[in-house]
Amino acid sequence: MKIYDVAIIGGGSAGVMAAIRTVLNNDECLLFPGTPHDKKRSRAFWVSTVENMPAHLSFKKGIEEPNKISLDWLAQGPFANKFHWQKNRGIKKISKATDEVFTLVDDKDFVYKARYIILCTGVMDVQPQINGSIEPIFQYANIQLIDYCLRCDGHHVLGKKVAILGHTTGAAWVGVMLHERYNCPEMTILTNGEEPMFDQEAIDLINRYGFKIVTEKIESISGDAKNKKLEAFKTANYTVHADYAFVGLGMIVYNELAKMLGANIDQRGFVITDAKGLTSVNGLYVAGDLRANGKKQIYTAWDTAVDSADEINILIRRKKRTETSFLS
Ligand SMILES: Cc1cc2nc3c(=O)[nH]c(=O)nc-3n(C[C@H](O)[C@H](O)[C@H](O)COP(=O)(O)OP(=O)(O)OC[C@H]3O[C@@H](n4cnc5c(N)ncnc54)[C@H](O)[C@@H]3O)c2cc1C
Repeated sequence: MKIYDVAIIGGGSAGVMAAIRTVLNNDECLLFPGTPHDKKRSRAFWVSTVENMPAHLSFKKGIEEPNKISLDWLAQGPFANKFHWQKNRGIKKISKATDEVFTLVDDKDFVYKARYIILCTGVMDVQPQINGSIEPIFQYANIQLIDYCLRCDGHHVLGKKVAILGHTTGAAWVGVMLHERYNCPEMTILTNGEEPMFDQEAIDLINRYGFKIVTEKIESISGDAKNKKLEAFKTANYTVHADYAFVGLGMIVYNELAKMLGANIDQRGFVITDAKGLTSVNGLYVAGDLRANGKKQIYTAWDTAVDSADEINILIRRKKRTETSFLS
């Protein structure tokens, strides 16, 4: 069976950059961008206009559109013979034999082999449940009146009344930071039926800035999504007016394949790597949001992907130097 140099799992920011760098390094690349189901539960899918990076404002879907342009170019360009794009395929099983080669099984039960893996399956933000469903949030999240990523979209709250959905210290700090940066006239933390778990420093700042805390379950959201307007979150006894909301409930980490290979993960589920993305499993690299530590951003996904692809290329070139056919 053919053994590919590098298999890349995931087709978001990290996966596509890993594919570009691997192919342009002239290493043979097998890309699995995921099934439609994988894509829909990825962060890449939900990102609309990207405002915090140069040259992205014209894309309505700031990750998917530029990625597609680059993948189409790879598939047709001068390195097309090095690029094996398994469109709409996801990996469901992965193992490593003692011969240092990985075996991958896709969602249609096709089997592949590769010497190196760059795993880029990412994470997803936890959604708040409202009356037992995550649906009510989406009409406002889709038009970015409810958001998740401070560095990406925090600037939207400039001078606005804001609600934070979350009960942990992390959620409290989202409120504190937004207030300090953007001078929000009203800030309410909605714990949605959970007990607040804020640390003392956050509590002191919440009191100092006069935030409200509502611990009752959210029963409904009112507004006019068609006209891009969020109005209020309603609980049994309160109506919390908000022009904008941030969700701070943590992340679901897509680490199943790393776990199958026995890679070390941290307490939150992120995969632990060295500076180049190498995990505790030889030959398994991780890039993008799945990697422990670091900012969860497009440009960090790109940088971590380049580090891993270049490191793998060094190993491939070193091996080639020892092969007789390469010596002349
Ligand atoms: C609402 C929102 C807005 C954001 N806005 C910005 C912004 O403006 N600027 C910014 O820098 N960052 C932004 N981010 C963060 C950014 O989206 C992430 O940092 C980035 O997408 C991480 O890239 P990734 O490749 O690690 O993961 P993702 O982009 O999430 O990609 C994961 C990929 O893995 C695939 N996958 C999953 N499982 C499998 C499997 N088993 N087999 C094969 N493939 C699989 C999926 O199909 C997907 O292609 C935003 C995030 C959110 C949620």
